[in-house]
Amino acid sequence: MLAASLIPTEVPGVGVLNSAFEAVVDGLRSSILGFAEPEDTQAFHVPPVISRALLERLGYVDAFPNLLGTLHTFVGDNRRWRAVQAARLADGAPWHSEQTISDVVALPATCYHLYPLVAHQTLAQPVTMTAEASCYRHEGSSELGRLRSFRMREVVRIGGPDDVPAWRDEWLTRARTWFDGLGLKTSVEVATDPFFGDAARMMAPPQRQEELKWELRADLGTGQAQAIASANYHKDHFGGLFDIRTGGDVAHTACAAFGLERIVLALIAAHGESPERWPASVRGALGLGGTGR
Ligand code: ATP
Ligand code: ZN
Repeated sequence: MLAASLIPTEVPGVGVLNSAFEAVVDGLRSSILGFAEPEDTQAFHVPPVISRALLERLGYVDAFPNLLGTLHTFVGDNRRWRAVQAARLADGAPWHSEQTISDVVALPATCYHLYPLVAHQTLAQPVTMTAEASCYRHEGSSELGRLRSFRMREVVRIGGPDDVPAWRDEWLTRARTWFDGLGLKTSVEVATDPFFGDAARMMAPPQRQEELKWELRADLGTGQAQAIASANYHKDHFGGLFDIRTGGDVAHTACAAFGLERIVLALIAAHGESPERWPASVRGALGLGGTGR
């Protein structure tokens, strides 16, 4: 009987998943897409890197400089590289002293690839889009479930100021019911993003006061509940930045995000490490065999 495992590697927060773990991820993916479908959702495949200039414009660098993974490359010529290698061999100089920051960064959240798809458009009706991506965040701790590389399935809603918050609320209810069906007890909490430095003082209080971010938290077996999904209402922030309109108004946006590895870890904490022994209803809901709900 194969236990679902996240196998640690030599760097904290970067794990290899075995086939039993990945089968559960596959089940989660189809189950989430199953309940997103009635809304006429457009699905996309997005890469794990994104334009650095775009994240700079969005303010990501100001709010989360500590989490952003930058990509650097060697852009020198053969002669320069020979000099770098010589210094390295002679006195152990670092090989990366001449790496230059590139025009892409590691994608920190899936939804950043979706808003630009409707930039400069006026939407006749609300748009719903979904994608999953490998995301990277340079997390500072190595607690279970706090990965640096993890997959995030997101559903994004773009529409008017009445439609979008109502969609976000409905999603929270729907996601919670879905988690209930998987035997996961979740708490619903108002949350704030992990802003860094001065950004925390300025941005966290209004986000909390206006209840813009909600998290569904579950036990991962560590004694401290972690967010397995979250729903964010951005008001007209992205609509303004990307010039998206609904009628005469700047569009509002919200995103609902599911952390796929964390959900599997919560399932393991709830039902044990061997998916073959999970309740038939849970196995059925995830297409692992057994009775569906
Ligand atoms: P944004 O407003 O930037 O789009 P978001 O809602 O997409 O934020 P978060 O709420 O920070 O992003 O993350 C979404 C989900 O991804 C979380 O609920 C969690 O399940 C998962 N997640 C976040 N960080 C990690 C991590 N370090 N390791 C594993 N899963 C994570
Ligand atoms: Zn998002």
